Amino acid sequence: MHTHAEIIAIGDELTLGQRVDTNSAWIAGQLAERGVHAHFHTTVDDDLDRLTDALVRAIGRAPLVVMTGGLGPTADDLTRAALAAATDDALVEDAAALEALMAWFAGRSAAMPEGNRVQALRPSRGRCLANAHGTAPGLHVVADRTDVFALPGPPIEMRPMFDGEVVPRLRPSSDVRTRVLATVGMGESSVAELLGELMDRDRNPLTGTTASGGVVSVRMREERAIGESGEGRGASELDALEREARARLGAIVFTPAGGTGEESLASVVIGLMRARGETVAVAESCTGGGLGAVITAEAGASDVFVGGAITYSNEVKSAVLGVDAEVIERVGAVS
Ligand code: AMP
Ligand code: MG
Repeated sequence: MHTHAEIIAIGDELTLGQRVDTNSAWIAGQLAERGVHAHFHTTVDDDLDRLTDALVRAIGRAPLVVMTGGLGPTADDLTRAALAAATDDALVEDAAALEALMAWFAGRSAAMPEGNRVQALRPSRGRCLANAHGTAPGLHVVADRTDVFALPGPPIEMRPMFDGEVVPRLRPSSDVRTRVLATVGMGESSVAELLGELMDRDRNPLTGTTASGGVVSVRMREERAIGESGEGRGASELDALEREARARLGAIVFTPAGGTGEESLASVVIGLMRARGETVAVAESCTGGGLGAVITAEAGASDVFVGGAITYSNEVKSAVLGVDAEVIERVGAVS
């Protein structure tokens, strides 16, 4: 079973800080959502020995290893060679992968450069994973009962291959269910105070809060160990927990009943206003149009949003909005 996992990101551009490794974060999130925690994220430069070393360690520690990068056709693409070296295997040419590569170029009315031929190589005991979005096939090798997946570096190729090839083969040792309630109008510590003992760290479901952009999200995560055949899933306590959390938090929760928790505050407000037949206009100063931007970013905002004025100088506040100059003088523009 995939009790835990390791992620290896490969590339000089990552270790030199020229590019941020977004693949590892994305993969870790996808695995965690499905009950598989990544214990190590390793980032390695394009060096055969160091990459092989990182792979040997990962295979020795985890039943699942997901790597990204280094599958291109050039001399600095070393994932195939490192995977063969780490598993005492040799590289062989995969006939179907070669055919797919040639078809990829033929489909673009180009001859396949000889250099791309290396992309059809795989460890003899491994298999190639088809890439519908680029030339680099992925690889899947089972070594010492560890599943090793090598995926392409570009996120637009890596993500669909992860969904199509890795997800169906995941064998999590726990079942994870999550629920999110978004709140507005209260700071994180006040939200925590209302939740009280529901946030104790030894509880399952475990409740935590995150604050971002004025919204405090209450995240509930239930995790249960499951056996090989899926026994132990049991009934969820999330519904009862959500009811209790909503009762304690009251009106600050804006996630609709049955919502995902990802609904934006603006979309919820727009929905409420539409239901009431209300409209809104905004007059902004320091926010420089930010409030109007937040509202109009939502599809269907035109049903309720009339328009706005960005009145930055005191003269425009008076001329456009009719704010009494004496009031600005007395209490200041930032009042
Ligand atoms: P590679 O397969 O190593 O040739 O990588 C191809 C391209 O994918 C790189 O030039 C990067 O732009 C991108 N890439 C590779 N690894 C990552 C990563 N870990 N996170 C985000 N982008 C990546
Ligand atoms: Mg690379």
